[in-house]
Amino acid sequence: MALMILAACSGTGKSTIVRELMNIHPQLKLSVSHTTRAPRPGEVDGVAYHFVNQAQFLRMISSDDFVEWAEYAGHYYGTSHEMIEQAKEEEIDLLFEVDTVGAAALKEAYPEALSCFVLPPSWEELERRLRDRQTESEEVIQKRLNVGQRELESAHKFDYLVTNDHLEKAIEEVSLLYRGLLLRTRERQAALETLLSP
Ligand code: ADP
Ligand code: 5GP
Repeated sequence: MALMILAACSGTGKSTIVRELMNIHPQLKLSVSHTTRAPRPGEVDGVAYHFVNQAQFLRMISSDDFVEWAEYAGHYYGTSHEMIEQAKEEEIDLLFEVDTVGAAALKEAYPEALSCFVLPPSWEELERRLRDRQTESEEVIQKRLNVGQRELESAHKFDYLVTNDHLEKAIEEVSLLYRGLLLRTRERQAALETLLSP
């Protein structure tokens, strides 16, 4: 089971890249997080996120259901143990789309995971993308830009940096990282063992 962590300032294009990446690599599945934020138009419960209320989320925290969780711009987000256990059983690869707090926690729990931070081409372009998406109020956009500034300060801790200037190029670069991850010895262990067994 290969694990890939993707983070970026809100509005950079991370979800857009993830969608395309999973079309290219069907064995790579999105780790579906739990969140207390409301669904955006088109977001389906259980596909984009498991949408829960705050009481449900807090109950999951106290039941130790999360590998990691974080508060982001006023809402809770978390990765469940169940998600990872299920992926292990089904032998699929998992892509975590998380903030920098979640990325650090996942990297600590799974050091073999590949981490990538996606950079916006500029602050102006990031702001434009967030506004053009038309999914957040002005107040939330400002909050997300402020959080984004802090997140960028942690970007150097990631294994790889990819700039999402031209979308196709960014998708290709993240796709290359995933292919590289699959070539790691650990992921090829079964093939190696078959060759070595008499
Ligand atoms: P994130 O998941 O990082 O918050 P999204 O994937 O929702 O960001 O993308 C934010 C907005 O930017 C969307 O409207 C998306 O269509 C647009 N977008 C993504 N990548 C690019 C790009 N390379 N050039 C222009 N617009 C882009
Ligand atoms: P959005 O509301 O734009 O979907 O997500 C806001 C931020 O929360 C993004 O940076 C996204 O990657 C992050 N996020 C989504 N799911 C999780 C999760 O399970 N854990 C953490 N720590 N962050 C998450």
